[in-house]
Amino acid sequence: MRRYEAPAINTLYYDQPSLVWDRALGSNVWDVDGNRYVDLTAGFGVAAIGHRHPQVVAALTAQSQELIHGLGDVHSHPQRIELARRLADLAPIENAAVYFSISGSDAVEIALKTAVLATGRAHVLAFSPAYHGLTLGALAATSRPRFQAPFQPHLHSLVHRLPFGCPPAEIERLLAAHPIACVLVEPIVGREGVLLPPPGWLTTLADLSRRAGALFIVDEVFTGFGRTGSWFAVDHEELRPDLLCCGKALGGGLPIAAVVGNRGHLQAWPDDGEAIHTATFVANPLACAASIAALDILQEQQLPQRAAALGTIIAERLLPWAEDSTAFPGLTQVRGRGLLWGLEVDHPSRAAAWAQAAMKLGLLLLAGGAEGRVLQIAPPLVIRSAQLHDALDRLARAYPRSLKTSA
Ligand code: PMP
Repeated sequence: MRRYEAPAINTLYYDQPSLVWDRALGSNVWDVDGNRYVDLTAGFGVAAIGHRHPQVVAALTAQSQELIHGLGDVHSHPQRIELARRLADLAPIENAAVYFSISGSDAVEIALKTAVLATGRAHVLAFSPAYHGLTLGALAATSRPRFQAPFQPHLHSLVHRLPFGCPPAEIERLLAAHPIACVLVEPIVGREGVLLPPPGWLTTLADLSRRAGALFIVDEVFTGFGRTGSWFAVDHEELRPDLLCCGKALGGGLPIAAVVGNRGHLQAWPDDGEAIHTATFVANPLACAASIAALDILQEQQLPQRAAALGTIIAERLLPWAEDSTAFPGLTQVRGRGLLWGLEVDHPSRAAAWAQAAMKLGLLLLAGGAEGRVLQIAPPLVIRSAQLHDALDRLARAYPRSLKTSA
């Protein structure tokens, strides 16, 4: 792998050879040596319905007999029409329409461009921490300095940043000081450390944005489709954003994402010629077929409700860990909702050591946020409760009580 691929990827655990995945099913992943892991990452949050769900496989098999690739923004196909209808019905958006994209970052680009077109303004309010993707537009809104620094001259300078969960007065001040096109926010911060906003904060943010004439955009790429125990994280506050970015779990394992937005705002895009934001593979037929199957499964099995119920198990089991400094020295905070939890420790090397020890015990975990000090628990929503309990037992056993730092 290192021989043929660029060195900048597959390097998460620098001193460890990276795992070579062979196959996956449900909540399990097997490597090429036959080792089995419980996937507490759900493949970056994609495998909400589990890996390689038989209904997705059947949908892909059937679709592959008819149409594998289409003509993106020029022609349509039945699965695309059906998926757009389903997404528009499902998303908590008034008078919804769908703008398909290739990735979560691409969805964020579309949302930002929509705001510019719909408001005639150029400034953006984003928060810290935040992860919105790594393409140049989205990267300007992503907060991590390591991702941004080398490309700083290319990042547009009109992004203003406030702390996630900050006092409303600060938001009001900023909105009054600049012509803000949109407020872009993760309703629950995911990759950058699993942070929940203070109750009511998102509602206030939405109100203030609208009063200032800015679009209220939520990035639900990670939190969407049941992850936090409701279909979308904004549902916890019964919010209706202007635009909602989604991806990851939508495709049931295939790459697809979308912006679901108020039709009035999306009408700001010109429709009298070639599309001015599109991509070759947009609304790929296989990905649309897999998405429809994924939505069926999420609905039939009521997986958002299941995530909420399993979240209570996690809360009961994990919250006491943060109080137990004998068994878990250096574990400073446990927080989360539904099946998205963060375990914050005192030092990045403790988080890395924990993830590595957990891997030896058969668990796949990612560390992110707060300089890599937050271990994420984001299993498939179909994980069996016995499997979850067993994984948490192993996670406790893997805890590194002593801390070796290279510094
Ligand atoms: N937004 C959020 C909230 C995300 O978690 C991610 C991916 N981790 C993205 C955007 C970017 O999505 P993608 O990697 O598909 O470009």
